[in-house]
Amino acid sequence: MKTRKIGKDAFKGFVSGLIKQQKVFGPCAKGDRFEFEQLDSAEQLRLDYDVTLRPPGRKYLLPPVETLLTYEMGDGYKSVYDETPFILLGVHPYDMEAINQSDRLFSQDNYDCHYMKRRQNATIIACDVVTPSQNVFAASMGTATVKTGFDILLTDIGDSYVMEIGTKKGEKLVAGIKDPKDADDNDLEKRKKVWAENQERLNKHKLNCDYSYLPKLLERAYKHQVWEEKAKTCFSCGSCNQVCPTCYCFNVQDDVSWNFMNGKRERVWDGCLLDGFTKVAGDHEFRKKRQDRFRHRLYRKAKYVPEKIGSSIPACVGCGRCVSACLPDIANPIKVYNRLIEDLGIK
Ligand code: SF4
Ligand code: SF4
Repeated sequence: MKTRKIGKDAFKGFVSGLIKQQKVFGPCAKGDRFEFEQLDSAEQLRLDYDVTLRPPGRKYLLPPVETLLTYEMGDGYKSVYDETPFILLGVHPYDMEAINQSDRLFSQDNYDCHYMKRRQNATIIACDVVTPSQNVFAASMGTATVKTGFDILLTDIGDSYVMEIGTKKGEKLVAGIKDPKDADDNDLEKRKKVWAENQERLNKHKLNCDYSYLPKLLERAYKHQVWEEKAKTCFSCGSCNQVCPTCYCFNVQDDVSWNFMNGKRERVWDGCLLDGFTKVAGDHEFRKKRQDRFRHRLYRKAKYVPEKIGSSIPACVGCGRCVSACLPDIANPIKVYNRLIEDLGIK
């Protein structure tokens, strides 16, 4: 991989150039919070953001509502694909890892052409965290830094950015920069320092074991009382699902015209904490009890999904969004996993 360096003023010019070429989405201020929005100018971009309200991967690669196909009576159906190229600029390492996991999920077994088309049209410029959020624990989950998935990775080293070029797409973008400079040893040393500091700083809730032990821990925890204790105050509101970069469950529903002559099929976000998520024909419901739904979410994060996609990194990437979103303050995965370690030990 090539590493380049770009001064902050030149970087603004680079971003302005990108905005003229295609849609660019990046973190923007929303009062005292941040959210990925389409950029109209480089001035809107806030690479010093702590965390965004919604994860960029889910917002743009698996949107809350998307039309999968349309149909007309007598004319069959037409699949609908979103083929607009776009750039996600400023994706933090934990959100990048969540996208890497989604890429594996949607390309293995049942290849999801709707997700994959969007992913192939996306260019991702990741960036190392400058301001840690209040609840981030990415370092405990192995995502304080990221090594794959991005087209370009930016690291703020003071008056400039080190740009690591990860792909040919990234190389093409950087080719537009006037007088590009190679990063020298001193720049790379500064980047190394940022990475080492982020391993310390992005750990507001510390996991008391190596994350690779979590699947084994959960094997022994299915009947533990913590699930019932925590779920007592759960509202089943699903907020922890909706803000999570690695939740991907959806429902598929048809929207049919009044005369049945045409319609569309849509995919909409769903969430395993919501009552009715597991309801099937005949009024059977597999996880009717709140404690079962509460347990399921934390098993998915640290056991089911990593085992399914063969990931050593858990499907909780430590962004901390669920911790901030949960009103009764019970959603923090670290608190539950640490409680299990305390009660069951490490074997
Ligand atoms: S479970 Fe919570 S902390 Fe982990 S990735 Fe999802 S929202 Fe972030
Ligand atoms: S754990 Fe918290 S955020 Fe999640 S459904 Fe229950 S109350 Fe809502």
